Amino acid sequence: MRKKSGNVKRINRRTPGGRRTVIYKRKKHSPARCAICGAILAGVPTGSPGEIRGLPKTKRRPNRRYGGYLCPKCMRLKVSEEIRGMLY
Ligand SMILES: [Zn+2]
Repeated sequence: MRKKSGNVKRINRRTPGGRRTVIYKRKKHSPARCAICGAILAGVPTGSPGEIRGLPKTKRRPNRRYGGYLCPKCMRLKVSEEIRGMLY
C-alpha cells in the first residue's frame, strides 16, 4: 500500500502500550452515481475495480439500457426522448 497516494487515509491511534502511532487504511470507494441527476445507483456494487471485475457481469449493473450509467427515472426520460426523435 503506497502511503502517500490519495486513496489512503491516515488514522492516529493509541497502541495497547500507550504509544501513539499512525496507521494507514484504504479509503472507501464512492458508490456509482447517475450521470444526469447524481442519484446513487442501485444494483451497482461498490469496490475496487479488481473486486468488481471478479463478479459475474450480471451482478455489475442492472441489465437494461443505460444500466449502471443512469438512474431509472433519467433512463425513462432519455429513452422516451430517443423514441420521440425517431418519429419525426
Ligand atoms: Zn438520474
